[in-house]
Amino acid sequence: MKKQAEQKAGPDQETFLFEKLRLSACEVLNPRPLSKHAHAGSTAAAILTDRGTLFTGVCIDTSCSMGFCAEHAAAAAMVTAGEHRIVKLVAVTEGGAVVPPCGRCREFLCQLHDQNDRCEVLLGDGSVKTLAELLPDRWN
Ligand SMILES: [Zn+2]
Repeated sequence: MKKQAEQKAGPDQETFLFEKLRLSACEVLNPRPLSKHAHAGSTAAAILTDRGTLFTGVCIDTSCSMGFCAEHAAAAAMVTAGEHRIVKLVAVTEGGAVVPPCGRCREFLCQLHDQNDRCEVLLGDGSVKTLAELLPDRWN
């Protein structure tokens, strides 16, 4: 399984994997209030690891900015399961539109593994960029 994820996939395989991630993210989209001060599920993310494992997460938005993004939640699930190398990422917002990770998530994901800057991210126009391309001139 690990070898499959690390091999360069052909165009059809790439499209299939990103579509699988997009659909998995859409499955956990579930915008809803949690309390007077918190909402969740308006953005969802799916990440694929080098071992071929898929993790999803949703955003949790709170008053006083204590919440976190869907990518953050998916990464936490991944780390909890003992993995930390991400090879592909897709995030979607309400209605299923693909959105790129915010700047904080780009940096956060890069710091979880020394090669996560190679993670491929699906963008809203259907193009794919690595985290390194989305996060030029990093602090380190
Ligand atoms: Zn974010």
